[in-house]
Amino acid sequence: MSVLSANIPAIAGGRPMFEERVPIVSPEGLPGEEFLHDVRKILNSRQLTNATFVRRLEEAAEEYLGVAHCVAVSSCTAGLVLTLQALDLQGEVILPSFTFHASAHSLLWNGLKPVFADCDPETFCVDPRSIKLQLSARTAAILAVHLFGNPASIVEIQTIASDASIPLICDAAHAFGSDINCRRVGNFGVAEVFSFSPTKLLVAGEGGMIATRDADLARKLRIARNYGDSGNYDPESAGLNARMSEFHAALAIHGLNGLDARIDRRNHIRRQYEQRLGAIPGLSFQHIPPGNRSSCKDFAVLIDEAAFGKSRDWLCDALEKENIQVRRYFYPPVHRQKLYRDIWDKRPLPVTESISDSILNLPIYSTLADESVEKICDAILRCHEFARKKKLTRAQRA
Ligand SMILES: *Cc1c(COP(=O)(O)O)cnc(C)c1O
Repeated sequence: MSVLSANIPAIAGGRPMFEERVPIVSPEGLPGEEFLHDVRKILNSRQLTNATFVRRLEEAAEEYLGVAHCVAVSSCTAGLVLTLQALDLQGEVILPSFTFHASAHSLLWNGLKPVFADCDPETFCVDPRSIKLQLSARTAAILAVHLFGNPASIVEIQTIASDASIPLICDAAHAFGSDINCRRVGNFGVAEVFSFSPTKLLVAGEGGMIATRDADLARKLRIARNYGDSGNYDPESAGLNARMSEFHAALAIHGLNGLDARIDRRNHIRRQYEQRLGAIPGLSFQHIPPGNRSSCKDFAVLIDEAAFGKSRDWLCDALEKENIQVRRYFYPPVHRQKLYRDIWDKRPLPVTESISDSILNLPIYSTLADESVEKICDAILRCHEFARKKKLTRAQRA
């Protein structure tokens, strides 16, 4: 193959950069054969759910996060639903529209009205100034999201919440192992809720964890995850079965081993992407404020069509043809989805719209090799050069 044809993107007939498809995510921290030992232990104990492994995981999370109470649940969504229920809220909750829709679902399950705030153009997290604009006498709480593992501006948001005497809850689905000013996520707001589903940092198969410093809230949540039944067969609330099974807990306990090294590796990959892709016109990235650590659950680029030469959606197709799996997270934003379109108060969310229209997520996981990251960057570079040359010839013809 000539040098020239080697640089033709697959979308224009060139050979795909990868022979085998590179997935965008790959579950991490999974144990080997030693897991079977745990399975045997669980089977022998005859206690398959919410027993010693679950308690051990809760204790390990309490220690890792440095927070007094961790309550294991069957998912982050269930954890958010139960936390909001336990806080006994009525009215409106302010949250970002630039998030996964499950953040907003937890409000609907509690009869709460989602009020969408815009996000910050640098961090992609909910913008405290927009939260302030949306605040009213009906606001019952604020739900912040640590987007892609990048912590939200919690100090500012907590001040807004405290001044309004309303609780702050964090959807920390992406942020197990993230830090805010050297303090672990899990220690902020009245509660922070993590996800342990396969695409997240710590994997239980399915599962979640509520972290709180409030002993009374933790007690209520332990009852709520068990149908609201404290054991006297006379439920305190319409709870859920949101217990975690012993098998899931055992998996997550293994995942805690080497978690910090995996987060470091993800940050290394992020910097590698930023260095290579930062040299290509029209590409920019999420800003992680100094002093914070992102879990780098995801890595995203924003594509400025005019400078890059092609649209986000074209690059999305082009990379898929290179055998690189990419995703548009989060597109469309929650307020544009059919479930929320009519609930949305129609206050403009220009930053959310702009980011959602130009974002593309690239593969990131600790087992992704440096060479693969380089090749993904090479693919993006040849896509840009192809677009630039096309533009040039068009200009010359005119
Ligand atoms: C994954 C995710 C959830 C839901 O987590 P589950 O454990 O699957 O219920 C909630 N919020 C955000 C931001 C997520 O990415």
